[in-house]
Amino acid sequence: MPYIYSVREIDYIIVGFGLAGMAFAKILQEHDKKFVVFDAGDKSASKVAAGLYNPVILKRYTLPWKAEEQFDISLPFFKKLGEEIGVEAFKKLPVYRVLSSIEDQNNWFTASDKPGLKRFLNPQLVLNKNKYVDAPYSLGEVNETGQLQIMDLLAGYAQSLAKAKIYFHETFDHNKLTLRDNAVFYKDLKAQRVVFAEGFGIKQNPFFNRLPLVGNKGDYIYIKAPSLRLDAAIKTSIFIIPEGDDVYKVGATYNWSDKGWEPSAEGRNELIAKLDEVISCEYEIVEHIAGMRPTTGDRRPLLGIHPHHAQVALLNGLGTRGIMMSAYLAQMLYDCLEDEVALPVEVDIMRFAGKLN
Ligand SMILES: Cc1cc2nc3c(=O)[nH]c(=O)nc-3n(C[C@H](O)[C@H](O)[C@H](O)COP(=O)(O)OP(=O)(O)OC[C@H]3O[C@@H](n4cnc5c(N)ncnc54)[C@H](O)[C@@H]3O)c2cc1C
Repeated sequence: MPYIYSVREIDYIIVGFGLAGMAFAKILQEHDKKFVVFDAGDKSASKVAAGLYNPVILKRYTLPWKAEEQFDISLPFFKKLGEEIGVEAFKKLPVYRVLSSIEDQNNWFTASDKPGLKRFLNPQLVLNKNKYVDAPYSLGEVNETGQLQIMDLLAGYAQSLAKAKIYFHETFDHNKLTLRDNAVFYKDLKAQRVVFAEGFGIKQNPFFNRLPLVGNKGDYIYIKAPSLRLDAAIKTSIFIIPEGDDVYKVGATYNWSDKGWEPSAEGRNELIAKLDEVISCEYEIVEHIAGMRPTTGDRRPLLGIHPHHAQVALLNGLGTRGIMMSAYLAQMLYDCLEDEVALPVEVDIMRFAGKLN
């Protein structure tokens, strides 16, 4: 007796639901595309990130790649998503750079007069009045900053997709994917395309695991410091970010060699040493977390269509700036897949054509 198959036909399968997968899902939804999402839920950089959307690289006072363009797309994008799913997308949070010397002050003034940066760096320095913060050279205020409530957005959107039975909290098994007749088949699904947005999970992906996604580990500690009383984030070589109830998120580290997701003693010690250089009050460490940034060797995203399988696409390499990049890149990939808009060469995976399996 022949088997009777019931195949659900859809447009897209999305694998991974961090900032990248979430942004792509939202764009598909706006275009009335039929899709499903698979997300393992663990090993997620998005769930570790502090959520700061400070647009400036405060170490060098420069703007990252396409920063202003991304900034103006991302914020309204997440605001709209938040409104639709009933989640407050942003928390207003001032960010102050602790200036380390007279020279650093001068660099701040010079930067705040440059086109592009002018919008984001306030030339008026702020005197530090907190006796537990060591900042004798004052503070530089970054304009238009805040904190994206990533966890709330991910949870809220996943819940609304799950209600529609199109979100599956499970690991996608690449071995069960079949490519045939210009479509992809997975379990009872037939889709026009699969889009992989797996972050560092790309290392398990048979199509893309040789791409140079290097990964950069970041540790954070949470401290409880009742006397610190900060109502803004401050930045030295680390961020100290108020989370409420006298708790602060402190970090993060940048480690290129450790590829494990577990919080490390090395990371913790580094953070304590850096924290002790800037604050002088009592504190206790209440939590320690770590995650892997999906960073690439050339610090550009990894976007595009597999050269041998037109139905397989990639959205990855968001690096240190997932908030700014996710919506911008998801839209770019969508336009490429649906309207054949060429991707900029600097983001296209075809720059690593020899590494595509
Ligand atoms: C310590 C730290 C601090 C950061 N701070 C900031 C910040 O303040 N601001 C900022 O903009 N960016 C920050 N980032 C960077 C940002 O987190 C990343 O750029 C972004 O989260 C990457 O999103 P993604 O969706 O590509 O990957 P991820 O968030 O890692 O999501 C990938 C998802 O895919 C799932 N997955 C993988 N494989 C499979 C599979 N086979 N089947 C099913 N699911 C799978 C995983 O479970 C995960 O949920 C930080 C990162 C770290 C680690």
